[in-house]
Amino acid sequence: MDIVRIPALNDNYIWLVHEPESGETTVVDPAVAAPVLVEAERRGWRIGQIWNTHWHPDHTGGNEAIKAATGAFVTAPAAEAARIPTMDRGVREGDLVTLGPLEARVIEVPAHTAGHIAFHLPEEEVIFVGDTLFAMGCGRLFEGEAAQMHANLQRLAALPPETRVYCAHEYTLSNGRFALTVEPGNQALLHRMEQVEAARASGEATVPTTIALERATNPFMRAPSVEAFAERRLGKDHFQG
Ligand code: ZN
Ligand code: FE
Repeated sequence: MDIVRIPALNDNYIWLVHEPESGETTVVDPAVAAPVLVEAERRGWRIGQIWNTHWHPDHTGGNEAIKAATGAFVTAPAAEAARIPTMDRGVREGDLVTLGPLEARVIEVPAHTAGHIAFHLPEEEVIFVGDTLFAMGCGRLFEGEAAQMHANLQRLAALPPETRVYCAHEYTLSNGRFALTVEPGNQALLHRMEQVEAARASGEATVPTTIALERATNPFMRAPSVEAFAERRLGKDHFQG
């Protein structure tokens, strides 16, 4: 499976995913259409699907134009059907979505939005998490509670450690600065921040991340209780850095 990162808007990443055996291609969370269509064309890939993790416009804004250009079939959270009018299939916990011979299992991770989902491809050791888990961070609680997001992160933490995590934003530097205020003595975190600062200084992306890296450095995944999680989430909401 080939996964191509397409930067969009200020800090979004759109993921263009191609399965070479079948030739099938899907695009995960297209914020916009134009650069996605250009990249697929350049590679000779025909976009047959769109997968949305949640309804926010910076994840679905490209749906309509990509659909119009390619006829792509849109899979999105059933619970957010009313807010994603381009949806062809609504999916829920445990549903399977295929890309050629590959299977993605839907995991419901409500909190950032009420119907937010992730797409997990266990055989590829890949998960697309939208705005639920970020490198050293997590999504804001726009439509859910701290207890839900805490449970989501514990669930993701239990995936195989080598699982590569494809999130939808480059928030790593700011997340890491906040993480250091929570765990200033965390050696894995200090080491990671050196690498992240160097990468960002030379304009490189810092995602995908892995479950193992997040378990070692993500203060939200590492929160020992719902209360600790809630306190950290609130702290990050007000963090200037
Ligand atoms: Zn969002
Ligand atoms: Fe977003």
